[in-house]
Amino acid sequence: MDIPRIFNITESVHRIHNPMTADKLATLGAALRLEPGARVLDLGSGSGEMLCTWARDHGIVGTGVDLSRLFTEQAKRRAVELGVADKVEFIHADAAGHVSAEPVDVAACVGATWIAGGVGGCIELLSRSLRSGGIMLIGEPYWRQRPATDEIARGCLAHAVSDFLVLPELVASFGALGCDVVEMVLADQDGWDRYEAAKWLTMRRWLDANPDDELAGEVRAMLTSEPERYATYTRDYLGWGVFALMKR
Ligand code: SAH
Repeated sequence: MDIPRIFNITESVHRIHNPMTADKLATLGAALRLEPGARVLDLGSGSGEMLCTWARDHGIVGTGVDLSRLFTEQAKRRAVELGVADKVEFIHADAAGHVSAEPVDVAACVGATWIAGGVGGCIELLSRSLRSGGIMLIGEPYWRQRPATDEIARGCLAHAVSDFLVLPELVASFGALGCDVVEMVLADQDGWDRYEAAKWLTMRRWLDANPDDELAGEVRAMLTSEPERYATYTRDYLGWGVFALMKR
């Protein structure tokens, strides 16, 4: 049980698997006014940077669930490195349907809402783990500018323009799902560069070390085309943010 191997290759060196930077994650942690001992659940926790740094900086305790064996191992190592292994645990599992045994203060899904079938399903899933008055975190893309055609949307690796909303629509959609938006931290294009451009050096080094791997052809093709695709489409068209929500 694991995510497709291509992601474990291209994002093997990432600490944060989305366009948020370490600064932005710290801004978000401060914005949420986390109390020491606050319980945080993170579905699709990746390499654990959010939980580990918030445990170090705010004394939260937390659980992360992720389907990537590699990322989960990296998260456990990061917890040891930051001296918070007694505060956070990382579980290698499918997070679809995962509900915590005890209600949590913050329930997050940052860049993996598809595990519950999209934003609506994700809010429903997170709310099952949340204490009354708790905060949900949803990390999600939106259009910085709406593409004129589905072809441009596909250039952003979406299926169609209808995959995402523009920011005012996304914010309004949370209201329509019965939630107050109580905070948000938005990624910027420098953050997109950190997420996307970091894959290129990782791919190049992996190719040099693994020329005969069965995925070498695919990775070679990606490395050849990704910088131009990203610069043409994703960087200009796609925004990304983490939205803090409370049930009305
Ligand atoms: N929240 C993390 C990771 C976001 S990337 C961060 O911000 O860094 C999306 C993550 O979802 C990846 O780590 C991937 O391994 C994980 N994932 C994909 N499908 C999943 C599933 N069904 N259950 C749990 N995690 C999943």
